[in-house]
Amino acid sequence: MDLLTPPELTTDAQRYDIFADKDMRYDGHVFLGVQSTGIFCRPGCPAKMPKFENCRFHSTAESALQAGFRACKRCHPAGGDTALIKTLISLVETEGETKLTNAVLSAKGIDPSTARRQFLARFGMSFIDYARTRRLALAAKTLTAGGSVLEAQLDAGFDSPSGFRSAYAKIFGAPPSKAIASPLFITWIETPMGRMIAITDEAALYLLEFTNRKNMRRQFGRLRKVQNRAIVPGRTPITDQIETELRAYFLGTLSNFETPLATSGTEFQRRTWAALQSIPHGETRSYAQLAEMIGNPAAVRAVASANANNGLALIIPCHRVIAKDGGLGGYAGGLARKQQLLDLESKEA
Ligand SMILES: [Zn+2]
Repeated sequence: MDLLTPPELTTDAQRYDIFADKDMRYDGHVFLGVQSTGIFCRPGCPAKMPKFENCRFHSTAESALQAGFRACKRCHPAGGDTALIKTLISLVETEGETKLTNAVLSAKGIDPSTARRQFLARFGMSFIDYARTRRLALAAKTLTAGGSVLEAQLDAGFDSPSGFRSAYAKIFGAPPSKAIASPLFITWIETPMGRMIAITDEAALYLLEFTNRKNMRRQFGRLRKVQNRAIVPGRTPITDQIETELRAYFLGTLSNFETPLATSGTEFQRRTWAALQSIPHGETRSYAQLAEMIGNPAAVRAVASANANNGLALIIPCHRVIAKDGGLGGYAGGLARKQQLLDLESKEA
């Protein structure tokens, strides 16, 4: 058995083969969400292989969950090996999260603090958050399918409308009554340099960020506020377009993105972002040069801040701005990734 880290997966076709071959080396690295059944699995699952077009791949159980999939009962993708986590997962499926208080857990012989620790270790999120995300993803699905707020509330396992409204608004940034008006759709996209989050509607891309980007939470909040729209899990044709372009970009075959963008910012930020987009693929500029490009050479700090606040990573190429001395400068997506991006772009002839 190969104990080394298995080769990196870059295409969905490769990921599909991992599941078809029951290649257990990838357990914990890739999860398979089956669109037709709403279930997600880990490599090695004994269930019948779904058709390729029904497969949605995720690199963490958390992201599969956020996309609305539930854990498979045969392979326990989210359950790992511990009986405790399996018990907790099935509790989430059978009982409303509002009922799963510490007292209830204790009464079932589960130590709440152990449960919390194991969940955090496995998912990077608390048990309560897990349950809530799972329930509210179901509710969002009901709403986007045209269901009523009451149906969505019942799907989510909430007894009280007000409890449902506030929990929903906390996750999706808008009350459920607004969710069907004109939501923005959020999807997780896997890239060779890490998972990205994309927010789109039918007409444009609103946000594209690496998920561990430092100020993503702030970006998210700002977008929600400016747009005054709910953000629910889902895809649009724009999601498909940016996903296709990203694939080509990381293969080195695309240097100009054509996905339509929706930016919101001050006049100064917009000018800075336009200047950034004029820096050719494979080249870099300093912050001072960027300030000169927008005709405001003294505004180096403001330019750096506008640079950091653009919500469209790669497309508005803030990674092409480096320090005056040739050093990397900053990057909210992490300096290692900035270097990787510059290396990728410099390979182009
Ligand atoms: Zn399974």
